[in-house]
Amino acid sequence: MKATHKNEFGGAFLLEKISLNLEREIAHATNKMKRTHIKELAGLVGQEVVIKGWVDIRRDHGKLIFIDLRDASGKVQMVALPNHTEAHAAAGTVRTEWVLEVTGKVNARPERMVKKDEPNGAVEIEILGVKVLNQATTPAFDVSSDGKEIGEDVRLKYRYLDLRRPRMQVNVRNRHKAMHYVRDFYTTEGFVEVETPMMTKSTPEGSRDYIVPSRLEHGKFYALPQSPQQYKQLLMAGGLERYFQIARCFRDEDTRGDRQPEFTQIDLEMSFVEQADVMEVQERMIIGLVQKLYPEKQIQQIPFPRFTYKEVMEKYNSDKPDLRKDKNNPNELAFFWVVDFPFFEKNDEDVGGKGSSGWTFTHNPFSAPKPEFMNDLMEKKNIGDIMTTQYDMVLNGYEIGGGSIRNHQPEALKKVFEIMGYAPERIEKNFGHMLHALGSGTPPHGGIAFGFDRLIMLLQNEPNIREVIAFAKTGEGKDLMMESPSEVDPKQLKELGIEISKKK
Ligand code: ASP
Repeated sequence: MKATHKNEFGGAFLLEKISLNLEREIAHATNKMKRTHIKELAGLVGQEVVIKGWVDIRRDHGKLIFIDLRDASGKVQMVALPNHTEAHAAAGTVRTEWVLEVTGKVNARPERMVKKDEPNGAVEIEILGVKVLNQATTPAFDVSSDGKEIGEDVRLKYRYLDLRRPRMQVNVRNRHKAMHYVRDFYTTEGFVEVETPMMTKSTPEGSRDYIVPSRLEHGKFYALPQSPQQYKQLLMAGGLERYFQIARCFRDEDTRGDRQPEFTQIDLEMSFVEQADVMEVQERMIIGLVQKLYPEKQIQQIPFPRFTYKEVMEKYNSDKPDLRKDKNNPNELAFFWVVDFPFFEKNDEDVGGKGSSGWTFTHNPFSAPKPEFMNDLMEKKNIGDIMTTQYDMVLNGYEIGGGSIRNHQPEALKKVFEIMGYAPERIEKNFGHMLHALGSGTPPHGGIAFGFDRLIMLLQNEPNIREVIAFAKTGEGKDLMMESPSEVDPKQLKELGIEISKKK
């Protein structure tokens, strides 16, 4: 469809323009023009493309209107020239964060205009057509900055806008890459990912449970899991041998910088293992994660150093000291393990309903003691000296993971609850299923759980886990965007047999 050249600016130009428009229209009508992702533009100089995305910035110079368009893959500068009348007029109406479909030609920028440090710095899109896919009200805040200058409450209220900023895009995407790596790693090592229930029973993980009322059985409640601890042990009883899960956990705690009411754990359990076996696999997982996804980071010491609880406490007066040699270097990672924790600590709480027994667990009631302390546990003597098989992994001053070898003999688990002052009926009522499972041919087993949000926070050099959770809650446990927690319809409460007492 080439026109014969009469002269350079006359009929031929017009004909060529018409034919180009026609081709474009036919292509559009028949849906032949596929969307090109912005990151591919640098290699398409001279071609006509359709790109779709958000208006990042618009600069109106009257004759020339510049628009930076952004999609998930990148950003490009576009220009509307006055000779493309319709496109120019349309470009004049668009505003920041509008969503556009743009037909344009990929032009090489003149040598002196090339921006070498930008992926699309050598090209510019000449806008031929603009279709507005959606308009946007004036955004609540700038989404092009790193957002640190904006109050967190307003960022959380408009999280869908906040997620558009480059820093949040990187955090969410890198979190996904890490999750993908983790799934891949454990799958390759023979682990099976199993989903465990979200609606379960109150368990003694050491925090308050979130509870869910039952409609069918008034006065009864499910609890959201504080961790899949019992289920993963029951999977070992069930013969899975190696389990993992990217698990959501819920703990009703007073929130702090690195805590949320709900958070994500890399949770796993292994059969026929001892402490060293579990630790070896995890160390390999973590080293691989850093080397593959964060090659710019330096792990201070491999294999990770190991300290006893007594050693770290004596030396640093903390069981999670920050051991980086240079704390100003964001790429330094000081991992280490802490082992040989005391199993029990003094406690004043009346857990058994008959006055305090004086003891509670330090980490996990399902842990086994170190083998040399098994006799003391069974005889319930020298309780304060019994050491647990617990191992904690620490990174740059944060506990990022913890686990243990479990008591796979029912009698030993029973002794733990007895030491904590639980009456026999309560042990049977709360843990009868566990004791029965352990007495039904459960292999020796142990596991660990990593705080995934915390790990990603540290790897992304973020100051708190809310920066790496897409829809985070505030420090007070509120979802400002959804306005949750919220009241429910009185009808719902009636169905559940629940009455709300007046605030005092
Ligand atoms: N379930 C424990 C926790 O969430 C971790 C473990 O021992 O595997 O802290």
